[in-house]
Amino acid sequence: MSEQLWTAVDAYICDLLAPGDPALDAALEASAAAGLPSIQVAPNQGKLLQLLARIQGARSILEIGTLGGYSTIWLARALPPEGRLITLEADPKHAEVARANFARAGLAGQIELRLGQALDTLPQLSMERLGPFDLFFIDADKANIPAYFNFALGLSRRGSLIIVDNVVRNGAVIDPDSADPDVQGVRRFNEILSRETRVAATAIQTVGGKGYDGFALVLVTADP
Ligand code: SAM
Repeated sequence: MSEQLWTAVDAYICDLLAPGDPALDAALEASAAAGLPSIQVAPNQGKLLQLLARIQGARSILEIGTLGGYSTIWLARALPPEGRLITLEADPKHAEVARANFARAGLAGQIELRLGQALDTLPQLSMERLGPFDLFFIDADKANIPAYFNFALGLSRRGSLIIVDNVVRNGAVIDPDSADPDVQGVRRFNEILSRETRVAATAIQTVGGKGYDGFALVLVTADP
């Protein structure tokens, strides 16, 4: 099966089940106009995140890796009116574009963007005793996934859901000798996950307009 076919099927699915709307389309347009890389989730993946947040009944969400805020908007729309989402981003330009996208989507009151390296902003969240969060979406630099996962566990409760994106990396994840720090980060995370007794987890391969990759789904089953 070719990437061309995956992309065409993704377009078919997105048109029917995850169509754009003025705020989502404007977020993508503003991100592209500002020169942000087009590495946001696909529309049907955004819809999946939103459905997971709704299934979870999430009232508090923590996202690591904002970019222009496309996935953030999908997720925040799953929140009840009193719900809150915190998203962490290291790049000031990405943060500026994302904040404008949140305002345009009418979500500025529910989303807080914290600018800085996530390894700096995550301990602050713990110090402020924010959390536990109902749902986490980990989608920043892949080399640090093990650390982000560890922080997420610390900010979770029994029943929290942790979603980690890009854990297949075009199949490179099975190469133990990979020199790519992102691949090694994902491999370390998978090994940690396999030994972690406080969670139930799986990983799913995906194909589509974003190529061949996958995500991990982790349910916290004990009070960390
Ligand atoms: N979740 C976004 C979406 O689907 O719309 C895409 C996020 S993009 C894949 C990754 C983002 O993580 C980039 O905006 C990048 O600047 C940010 N990032 C990378 N390293 C980071 C770090 N150490 N701390 C915080 N953010 C980081």
